[in-house]
Amino acid sequence: MGEENVIGMNQVTTERVIGELRRIKGPDLKEDIITLGLVSDIVVRGGNVCFSISVNPARAAQLEPMRQAAEQVVGSMEGVTRAIVTLTAHSGGEHASHQRPQEARKSSELIGLSHIKHIIAVASGKGGVGKSTVAVNLALAFRAVGLKTGILDADIYGPSMPHLLGLTGTPVLSDTNTFIPLEGHGLKVMSIGFLIDPDQAAIWRGPMIISALTRMLRDVQWGELDILIIDMPPGTGDAQLTLAQKVSLSGALIISTPQDLALLDVRKAIQMFRRLEVPLLGLVENMSYFLCPHCKVRTDIFGRDGGRKEAERIGIKFIGQIPLEMVIREQSDAGNPVTISMPDSHYAGMYRTIAAKVFSQLEDTEGG
Ligand code: ADP
Repeated sequence: MGEENVIGMNQVTTERVIGELRRIKGPDLKEDIITLGLVSDIVVRGGNVCFSISVNPARAAQLEPMRQAAEQVVGSMEGVTRAIVTLTAHSGGEHASHQRPQEARKSSELIGLSHIKHIIAVASGKGGVGKSTVAVNLALAFRAVGLKTGILDADIYGPSMPHLLGLTGTPVLSDTNTFIPLEGHGLKVMSIGFLIDPDQAAIWRGPMIISALTRMLRDVQWGELDILIIDMPPGTGDAQLTLAQKVSLSGALIISTPQDLALLDVRKAIQMFRRLEVPLLGLVENMSYFLCPHCKVRTDIFGRDGGRKEAERIGIKFIGQIPLEMVIREQSDAGNPVTISMPDSHYAGMYRTIAAKVFSQLEDTEGG
């Protein structure tokens, strides 16, 4: 049909993107970046287009105008709503995980996010343990006591913050090409889900994911914040390592379920932060026990205090336990985490206690 044809013509394709990029000259200002083979990882998702241009890292700052030009050319194509272009190191160049961690953390310029007092990583050894649920309730508990708080959802495999906070829409790009975070329940929110479709995360090669995360760290207008919580991707791959290396973290909070606590994954996560000299703020045991909503009787499905003992064994402070409770899941799923929807509940009180302990740990680690 006629209309379909029109839509078809406007459809953004990799070929059309490549065609436009032939207009952009490479670092030598002679040949274009396509001919020079510098463009890779083109991902087209609806009106969003992302790709990388590989450059010599030493010239990255100098080549920023080239990146901007490429972004502008593709961004103004018909059918494109947003273009995200990142500069990556030439292949064969440095890759985060190939550096010795301590050295990398000291030598690379840490992204300080200068107007943010504390940046806390909320991490776990594996997915599905309730890391994002703790992260969002923690952020809301900080907000409830008047702290200016932001949350950066870096979970490439399952970005959930917009959903947990009932947010729709996407962040606006400012004139200076930086993202203006969304706001939900008084929190500033940015999610990698706005840049990467989790269903497509598998086809984003490692360096591409790292570029998108780096862009998210550098180019978000957080403004003044007391606390920024980073909801980390689970595990200890390159993305996690990069975040932990590049960001000037005040500390990391580890989330585990009791049955996972003794497993290797959680130890590896703890080990990663130790190697990078990121202070460990402690461990939160989630889904620890079952509290019957009717009779209020507590059932210790995994035995009592196993988590506390295991934490002691690993040498990490035990911050607290959260029960497996339907209302916690229901409220999160409805975009109204318990800390705000049921502020007087026992559960909200638990998250507030955890927030207070984490805050005092932060002050301790600063010697304050
Ligand atoms: P992760 O970030 O570790 O992948 P999520 O925070 O997304 O995990 O939680 C996984 C699922 O478990 C979600 O459906 C969430 O609502 C639910 N959940 C998390 N914590 C609890 C809890 N204490 N009680 C009941 N359900 C929970």
